[in-house]
Amino acid sequence: MPAIGLFGGTFDPIHFAHLRLAEEIADAFDLQQVRLIPTSVPPHRDQPKASPEHRLAMTRLAAAGNSRLAVDAREVGRAGTSYTVDTLTEVRSEEGSTPLCLLMGADAFVALTTWHRWTELFDLAHIIVARRPGFPLEKLASALPGPLHQQYTKRLETQPEAVKAVPAGKVFTHELTALDVSATALRSLILGQASLRYLLPDQVIAYIDEHHLYREPDAS
Ligand code: ATP
Repeated sequence: MPAIGLFGGTFDPIHFAHLRLAEEIADAFDLQQVRLIPTSVPPHRDQPKASPEHRLAMTRLAAAGNSRLAVDAREVGRAGTSYTVDTLTEVRSEEGSTPLCLLMGADAFVALTTWHRWTELFDLAHIIVARRPGFPLEKLASALPGPLHQQYTKRLETQPEAVKAVPAGKVFTHELTALDVSATALRSLILGQASLRYLLPDQVIAYIDEHHLYREPDAS
């Protein structure tokens, strides 16, 4: 049975590297769908600049027109901190034994041991780690802390077809086309009144303009 991809992020704002990650991994692993999941209150990082509602709206605009992409709003609707383990537990109970794949960039995977109940994530889904500029996959293993390194070497699988064999538990990597776009850099461009074109969808740029988003400097 083709697997379902789940791709969480702050999406503050969503950009072409996020969308390319979803599209390329859907192709490479024959995923039936990738669900984009904007996080409401992320536990691991600075709080997003735009509200959950704005980030959800931008994610919906970005996904429109691609039948393989869907948007899952459950974290935006949930009170308190968003934990991926809770989201995966819910999706697992809805989807039965359909293989689930959690998608993330290599920078996120390196920090996985800081995630709430991180070892349980492997019981709920496969993890597909995408190359990100600055985080090459050939250096991934050496960048992982001990307990994660152990899990990684035990679970690493090189054949994409293996996502369909079992519902969860494997780790895969993907040499994503390198696109050095980050939401942080996009917010700096907005502050500098520079053009955003060709870095994120035009509809999302129009939404940012219309709602005057990201006009205040980051606190950090
Ligand atoms: P920031 O620049 O503010 O850190 P971000 O785009 O990294 O923003 P998120 O929206 O939370 O932050 O990212 C969601 C996911 O997308 C993460 O797993 C991250 O690793 C991945 N990702 C983001 N940008 C890229 C990129 N250019 N290449 C590959 N993966 C990326």
